[in-house]
Amino acid sequence: ETFRTSPVSSSGVDVSFEFFPPKTDRAAEALFQSADNLARFRPRFLSMTYGAGGTTRDRSIEAAATLVRRTDVPVAGHLTCVGASKQDVDSVAKEYWNSGIRSIVALRGDPAVPGTPFEAHPEGYRSAVELVTGLKAVAPFDISVAAYPEVHPEALSAQSDLDNLKAKIDAGADRAITQFFFDPDAFLHFRDRAVAQGITAEIVPGILPVTGVAQAYKFATMCGAHVPERIRALFDGLDEQPETRGLVTTAFAAMMCRTLREHGVRAFHFYTLNRSAQSAALCRLLGCEQETMVSEQSPETSLTQ
Ligand code: FAD
Repeated sequence: ETFRTSPVSSSGVDVSFEFFPPKTDRAAEALFQSADNLARFRPRFLSMTYGAGGTTRDRSIEAAATLVRRTDVPVAGHLTCVGASKQDVDSVAKEYWNSGIRSIVALRGDPAVPGTPFEAHPEGYRSAVELVTGLKAVAPFDISVAAYPEVHPEALSAQSDLDNLKAKIDAGADRAITQFFFDPDAFLHFRDRAVAQGITAEIVPGILPVTGVAQAYKFATMCGAHVPERIRALFDGLDEQPETRGLVTTAFAAMMCRTLREHGVRAFHFYTLNRSAQSAALCRLLGCEQETMVSEQSPETSLTQ
């Protein structure tokens, strides 16, 4: 069986949306409502993250399987190598496959305790390269891997990080999705370097619509992204003005997506934080078509008007 891809929308833009497993019933309701809203853009896939240290294993699998049952778009399960033997990881992959999941975002992962160095399980996959190779042996999954426009914090050098990306693609990954960034030039330079390195697979920018400068800094410190001075200026003095802050956030993300689109980027991955409004707004601005509700398409309605 081959991977089901959604038809490319007339704008020629492909999108995917990332969610994380909910902790409460209320959070689950919000997440699945967001997923329903965003599924109407006919995304390439909806993806479900796998918690740091493999801590959300069961919740991730369950939430991903719910997305499959609930929506009629492809679903991708994230999977990491942390704290698990190869056999355990392979069995999660098989569970994904048996739930109808044909796409995996394959990652090395980070330890459950932030800041501690990654240590492979004695019988585990030691890196994302090994994981990709292992997954391809389990089933013909469509595989996405991570890429770092501003270099992974543990990488020895920018060049070795790029070599590692090439190794992941050569091991069978179909595309790379980037860590988020706030400076489109960071992505565009990285893409140029990847192409010069002979990486022909698609590199999809990961877009994080942050809700303010404090959140931007928090996320950025976690992953080593640079926060340009103009972002600080944009949000300066807006701490007590959440409404304006929200508008600025979306406008900024829209400008970033637009710049990327103008430079030939035709696929976007949104870190939705389980919300749909901002990602939906960005998709509309990118020209993605949204499926209309059946009731809106009813011929009787149009005939009587
Ligand atoms: P790898 O590609 O294995 O690289 C890890 C580091 O080792 C890099 O610095 C690399 O340069 C270096 N390296 C690897 N091999 C070599 C080598 N042979 N020689 C020298 N250096 C080497 N984390 C989660 O826990 N759950 C998720 O669901 C999740 N989803 C993510 C989704 C996306 C789109 C992205 C971008 C990241 C996600 N992460 C997630 C975070 C990710 O797990 C971490 O960034 C992790 O630290 C690295 O994972 P990786 O797959 O990039 O590792």
